[in-house]
Amino acid sequence: MARKPIALAVQGGAGPISLESYKRNRPAVGEILARVAAMLMDGASAMQVVEEAVRLFEKHPSFNAGTGSSLRYDGSVQLDASIMDGATMMGAGVGAVTGVLYPVTLARYVLERTPHVLMVGEWATRFARECGMELVADEELIVEERRRLWERKLAARETPDDQVLSSGGTVGAVALDAEGKLAAATSTGGMVLSLPGRVGDSAILGAGTYADAHSAASCTGVGESIMRVLMAKVCADAVINGMSPQEAAELAVRIQGEKTPGTSGAIVVDISGALGLAYNSDNMYRGYFTPERGVVVPE
Ligand code: ASP
Repeated sequence: MARKPIALAVQGGAGPISLESYKRNRPAVGEILARVAAMLMDGASAMQVVEEAVRLFEKHPSFNAGTGSSLRYDGSVQLDASIMDGATMMGAGVGAVTGVLYPVTLARYVLERTPHVLMVGEWATRFARECGMELVADEELIVEERRRLWERKLAARETPDDQVLSSGGTVGAVALDAEGKLAAATSTGGMVLSLPGRVGDSAILGAGTYADAHSAASCTGVGESIMRVLMAKVCADAVINGMSPQEAAELAVRIQGEKTPGTSGAIVVDISGALGLAYNSDNMYRGYFTPERGVVVPE
């Protein structure tokens, strides 16, 4: 009997990424992908795999999520994340949450332990404490490189309006497991210099994250633009209407670029295990895995 298809893709953010940065961080993308690919091969569920992929990115200081997040206008760190289970259509997000090392896990707790779809700010942090999550000071999430970027942008007197065209990066994963279930997860520190309290697409189902019985998608780029065109839902609907994940990702990115400012990227997997990865920015940290092709992280 033919083996059931499994597949996985990850993204570590799209935007003005130099070739040098891409090359420097490419091995980390490969390592994270290899670890979660092994889980998927061992029979882990799509939900487990996307959560773990995002946690590994959140832990890694080079990516804008969890540790290594962008700083807000006031120098604080506020995090957005979401996760969605395509089999049950259950999903949830957290927005502008502080002091949480693994926001994607907090989003899963919102999904599993509350009737809600979105929790934000101080109350989301309180909920994290009640769930037994370790809480940390901003200092533990801030890395020197991000602080220097924030200082440079502040010194250049960039305003939140000026910086809206330049995304800060996001991390995300989409997976199809051996039971034919799909899931997506996304997490970000948001855009550098954004106002405290701002919530971007990574917290919002249909915008940064979406999964149903046919496909799963995770997006990155300028959150304000992604939310206006509901990029992840565009990907899902395109697959339902017969497009391949690659066509769907390209369509969503094209619609974003034509209708709204800034740039974006998307990763998509469908129920057959086909994958799509597209972006209209300089570059996007990305990679994918299938049993046939192994772990692939483009040069
Ligand atoms: N989408 C993220 C946000 O707007 C940032 C990014 O992906 O670069 O918060």
